[in-house]
Amino acid sequence: MAHYDLLIKNGIIVTADSTVQGDIAVKNGKIMDVSVGKPIEATATQEINAEGLHIFPGVIDSHVHFNEPGRTEWEGLETGSRSLAAGGATSFFDMPLNSTPPTINKANLETKRRLAEEKSIVNPYFWGGLVPENLNDLKDLHENGVIGFKAFMSPSGIDDFNNVDDESIYKGMKEIASLGSLLAVHAESTVMCELLAEERIGQGKVTARDYVDSRPIISEIEAVRRVLSYAELTGCKLHIVHASSRKVVDVITDAKKRGVDITVETCPHYLSLTVTDLEEQGVIAKCAPPLRDQEEVDDLWTAVAKGEIDTIGSDHSPAPASMKVISDNIFEGWGGISGAQSMLNVLLTEGHFKRNIPLEKIVELTATNPAKIFGLTTKGTIAVDYDADLTIVNLNESFELKKEDLFYHHQHSPYVDMTFKGKVKTTIVGGRVVFENGQPIEQ
Ligand SMILES: [Zn+2]
Repeated sequence: MAHYDLLIKNGIIVTADSTVQGDIAVKNGKIMDVSVGKPIEATATQEINAEGLHIFPGVIDSHVHFNEPGRTEWEGLETGSRSLAAGGATSFFDMPLNSTPPTINKANLETKRRLAEEKSIVNPYFWGGLVPENLNDLKDLHENGVIGFKAFMSPSGIDDFNNVDDESIYKGMKEIASLGSLLAVHAESTVMCELLAEERIGQGKVTARDYVDSRPIISEIEAVRRVLSYAELTGCKLHIVHASSRKVVDVITDAKKRGVDITVETCPHYLSLTVTDLEEQGVIAKCAPPLRDQEEVDDLWTAVAKGEIDTIGSDHSPAPASMKVISDNIFEGWGGISGAQSMLNVLLTEGHFKRNIPLEKIVELTATNPAKIFGLTTKGTIAVDYDADLTIVNLNESFELKKEDLFYHHQHSPYVDMTFKGKVKTTIVGGRVVFENGQPIEQ
């Protein structure tokens, strides 16, 4: 009789293609057998009875800001990765800014990787930065394993991570295309955002609505169109992060039809929160692009349902609570939403239960597509020879998210006190349980 490290019995196995009842056998971190209809007859060092529970491929969060090294008091790899595990994520792609030094050359990448290998309980991957100053470092970064490059078209808010102008977009994309890599961009128009903010602040208009109006959807569209032109000129693969509206997605869908190699991400907050939440919660719910109105949230779900969105990432962008204090001037507080732990919860509750989005679609957007787009050839689905990165969820269990349940370095999030349906029970990374019974398992 075969002997495995781990046997998961009788779970409801969800992939991008199907939902079936069966057993999963794991050895040496890999899925060795998936049996549907008849039980796997074998012994195992560890057995999990998943009767009545759903098993998803582990969430690949392709968009987090963990701030380490250099700004670890904001968030760190230890707290960040434990939050992810608690939310059912088994891999993350850390953005190149917010850490000091930022990931803009090989030495900085190696520092961050060393720290992640030491501290993270899920699989770490890294974005390399594209800034006007590092065109000569892109090749080195690529050869040392960054999953892609990230640039800002408007100021990043971080002094040592400059936004790109058209010249560096062009030169950077040309180089990234020649490397066969991909460029992700934060697409908002600097000119529009700065002028509109200046006008409002000058008139003392500093409410949540004023902030939202200072970063309109058309500013995202302008930046997307411009960077798209450079993608068409250079042939560089493009990934637009955190689209806040289907109107932005439409521009990308049109480009796809013309044959442009482009993908688009949205985030849980654009699919669940509105300007009203920003008005009520203040800086805790501040982000850029900003939250939109309910109509935009609904339209974005239509885009999800129609297959117009390629990935969903949390854009977990934490900050100390002291930078999130509610003041009369929303322009002053630090932008960025803490949400890595809640991504799957939001998608299941708002998407699956409220809007009938199939579980298979949620798996596609949070695991299968990120694995495909970013070349993680052994991740993103549940099949023989794939990595045993798995999340076991009880879809019948509801819970209210409490502040003290958050594993972030700073326990704030716009999702606190919300009720979610679908609770993560167990998270497995490379065949090892890293989260169970509400607690991370120290390795
Ligand atoms: Zn981000």
